[in-house]
Amino acid sequence: QSKESGRGAFHFFEADMNRRLRQRKTLEADLRTALSEGQFHLAYQPQIDLCSGALVGAEALIRWQHPTRGEVRPDEFIPIAEQTGQICQIGEWVLRTACAQAVAWPGLARMSVNVSPTQFRQAGFLEVVEAILAETGLAPRRLELEVTESLLLVDTEVTFATLTRLRGRGVSIAMDDFGTGYSSLGYLRRFPFDRIKIDRSFVRGLGSDPEAAAIVNAVIGMSHSLRIGVNAEGVETAAQAKLLRAVGCEEVQGYLYGRPLAPEAFSKAYLADTDAAALPAA
Ligand code: C2E
Ligand code: MG
Ligand code: MG
Ligand code: MG
Repeated sequence: QSKESGRGAFHFFEADMNRRLRQRKTLEADLRTALSEGQFHLAYQPQIDLCSGALVGAEALIRWQHPTRGEVRPDEFIPIAEQTGQICQIGEWVLRTACAQAVAWPGLARMSVNVSPTQFRQAGFLEVVEAILAETGLAPRRLELEVTESLLLVDTEVTFATLTRLRGRGVSIAMDDFGTGYSSLGYLRRFPFDRIKIDRSFVRGLGSDPEAAAIVNAVIGMSHSLRIGVNAEGVETAAQAKLLRAVGCEEVQGYLYGRPLAPEAFSKAYLADTDAAALPAA
């Protein structure tokens, strides 16, 4: 109410903003050496066929072990790496590491790798993918790239051309975080994605929020009629899994089935029975 408290609040806000800006600048600087210092590693989360319970793939998720701050979440540093352009080098490391890991795991049908829009749009991205496939010897059909809706906001013609060429090579393409972004259904008709990943914000509402259930139901129905695969992300409860099964969702990922794990833990938990691991994706 008083001018004084208003000014106080402003100063507080300013101080908070300065602190956050400084923190961001430090992270940005630290990111520059993280790759050469070997501070990144990948965790792998199982992707499960909802009917059979079989492993159908793994998603590679980057982890940053910061020397003083401990583990920094990708949600915190990926946006910074995107803005500074460092994502291209980091993303290439992720792709190379995940592809090499997949070659070491012949029982794993599919390796999914997240590709950020800046990385995807860099000149020569297709060549980078081809070089890594050749270098690691991974069969292209075992690689899936996860892209987000924001990729389709600009440069659509070039983007569609690159997507089409990747698919032509046999690499599959998944639309990640479906429903959280731009969400034009038009692009699903224009570009044949292999899979849609329903964002976990919708999965979370299953069983409590009728609107979330309606959206999940509609997305699954639409995917089936377009012959696109579906993966529901962030499945945490048996009740959610049951509802997803009832609406015909074929594939799931989430803490209920398994958290992202270091490579040794992943192979120990999921790849011991290579027959199950080798089941084809539904
Ligand atoms: P995303 O690709 O949608 O990955 C799913 C995120 O949900 C992961 O978080 C995963 O650990 C988390 N998750 C999986 N199951 C559950 C669950 O049951 N409950 C909850 N609450 N969370 C679950 P993470 O690893 O922190 O990654 C966050 C985001 O950072 C990813 O979202 C992706 O957009 C980005 N990211 C991660 N690794 C990479 C990478 O190598 N490259 C790029 N460009 N982005 C990456
Ligand atoms: Mg993903
Ligand atoms: Mg996602
Ligand atoms: Mg995401």
